[in-house]
Amino acid sequence: MITLRSEKCPICESSNRRLLGKPGRISDVFKNRGEIGEVNVVRCLDCSGKYIHPMMYFSEELRKELYNLDYFNANGALEEAKNIGEKVTIMAAVKNLAGETRGKTMLDIGCGTGEFLKAGADAGFDVTGIDVDSTTTDFITRKYGFRTVTGLLGPETFPQDSFDVVVLSHVIEHLQRPAELLGVIHGILKPNGLFVMCTPNSDSFGEDLHHLYGRFRYDRAKCYYLSPFLNPYHIIGFNRKSARRILERSGFAVEYFKVRSGLEWEDKTRRLIMRSIKVMGALVNKGMSIVTISRKPVAASAG
Ligand SMILES: [Zn+2]
Repeated sequence: MITLRSEKCPICESSNRRLLGKPGRISDVFKNRGEIGEVNVVRCLDCSGKYIHPMMYFSEELRKELYNLDYFNANGALEEAKNIGEKVTIMAAVKNLAGETRGKTMLDIGCGTGEFLKAGADAGFDVTGIDVDSTTTDFITRKYGFRTVTGLLGPETFPQDSFDVVVLSHVIEHLQRPAELLGVIHGILKPNGLFVMCTPNSDSFGEDLHHLYGRFRYDRAKCYYLSPFLNPYHIIGFNRKSARRILERSGFAVEYFKVRSGLEWEDKTRRLIMRSIKVMGALVNKGMSIVTISRKPVAASAG
């Protein structure tokens, strides 16, 4: 079942928005669900992020249908050592900001097959992973022996002030209420702790091309950004401004902010075309992914 709710911008709570169009691509899971006809892709006129309006909430049953093993397979989450180079680079930046890592703890939310955990452990952190999918957490425990938790992260999962570093990589664009999760993360981080957030750049050159191609090829009235009804079901799209906005609204001080080309990610199909698009995107300063590292200010936790 799908429940639709007319809500404000999930990033900044503004009600000012501009219609971008009805979502252009619809998978079989959504084909016969008439209620999705009401859903639009909009751009917030205040933070400039994209989101769907009205917002869609899924029943547990439908969520399982969407995020089943095929989903993780299609997105490469069950592949080993996926994009490890990028994670090592990001962890090096974390280490720079964290200083001494010995005895410090790191949590990766949505840890997949554990590449961030591996990069974190190699950098000297004592690592823990949490993921909703037990096939991946079991795999990590078997392969690396890292501590893992299976389930959704909630306010009760870990005590307050538990971790020195929290990683949230390519998760936030799937959430109906991202600010709620950032609040939980803020709580479980120690004062002065670091929060690593990575998300696709929804205003990348690649996304622009994808949107233009969809309009040219299929339907010029529709919107081919986000694709909420097609794997990977993104319901929010961040760009530079909106990514910074949600971090600051959640009480974090942004210390590192980079838009990366995405050239380190391997493409399974159309490799040459994808590479060219990424190079072009980097040249025009519209790379594929946003990588941020923010600090929980010490003052924020006093009292
Ligand atoms: Zn907004």
